[in-house]
Amino acid sequence: MSETREPPYKKVKIAETIDKFLQQIMLSKKNLQAIVSDELIKPVPFTKVYVGNVKNVKELSKIITILNEKIPIKELQHLKRAWKKEVLLCPVRYLNSMTQESIQEYLEHKVSELKDSFEYFKVMSLPSLPPRLKKQHIDYSKVWSCNFHPNEYLERLCGSDFFPVAELMKHRCYMGVAFETARYYLSEKNPDLQLSDILLRDINATVVVDPSICSIVAISFDNRECHPIQHSAMLAIDNVAKTQKGGAWNTSTDREYPPLPGIDNNLVLYLKNKFPNAKFGARNYVTKEVLDENRMSASDSPYLCTGYYVYMIREPCIMCSMGLVHARANRVFFCLSNNNQGALISKTKLHCVPSLNHRFEVFTEFL
Ligand SMILES: [Zn+2]
Repeated sequence: MSETREPPYKKVKIAETIDKFLQQIMLSKKNLQAIVSDELIKPVPFTKVYVGNVKNVKELSKIITILNEKIPIKELQHLKRAWKKEVLLCPVRYLNSMTQESIQEYLEHKVSELKDSFEYFKVMSLPSLPPRLKKQHIDYSKVWSCNFHPNEYLERLCGSDFFPVAELMKHRCYMGVAFETARYYLSEKNPDLQLSDILLRDINATVVVDPSICSIVAISFDNRECHPIQHSAMLAIDNVAKTQKGGAWNTSTDREYPPLPGIDNNLVLYLKNKFPNAKFGARNYVTKEVLDENRMSASDSPYLCTGYYVYMIREPCIMCSMGLVHARANRVFFCLSNNNQGALISKTKLHCVPSLNHRFEVFTEFL
């Protein structure tokens, strides 16, 4: 699963100043790239199977019917049972290796009525997983005939122009907000802040957006210096909870927090100045009792990070990524990979684990 990747800022020519860097992030027309599961992008594993060449092609359909009944191959249902004059008999591992059983002996034992149906046998390597993309289907079809149902959304997600330009610019702008947040907090301690202080230091900032109203719902900045688990994503999740009558941490000295909880009001003023068109604040939270009383649906009130987009300057660690799964985030965007701890591409792809009961999509390549 893991793959070694150079940090993006080493691959790409980076601007020398923070302002130029932010322009590069926000104005580039380069589309973002989804991080998808390895089975969509890595070479598929192959498995060895026995194939028989039928003597009489007119018996092909009868042979297939018998084989499907007597030797079903559940794990290879994506492969058609026959291709031209050849029939898929069984995976090589079905034969008894202890007795060095031959395929002829296996057939005589399992389907004696077919023991004389084949001209010859051969071993082939065929893809052990079904094709998910058209490109994979084309590749597979060169060796054997496969069942395939194209998924247009998946095709677009794996392509290089997923977001329309207008939407792309919004994502880039919110990433700009995340970097400005880091700049704001780091500048408080270091007025001579340089771009390298943001890029090379192990810090993170998070911006949570409700795309249904195009509004920034929560912002956070890394607080690990004071509290070991106050990573920026964990704080962002907590700050979202504060907009829903929850939240566990008090991280702002400002007692009144409209429009955003858990951060300095001065940061909101700073961001409003930098991004005059940006909206701040969450939809009104409605308790379950009020929803029921007024016969409203659950979607009339925000619930955790359901439907929300999360923008982070750096790839989140495994704890933060799992926190975002539990919080039901819809999409996670990050700019810089985190080679030592990142859980969305660097060390693993947590969002691609099939057993998780919630998934979010992940996008990167802002540089
Ligand atoms: Zn973390």
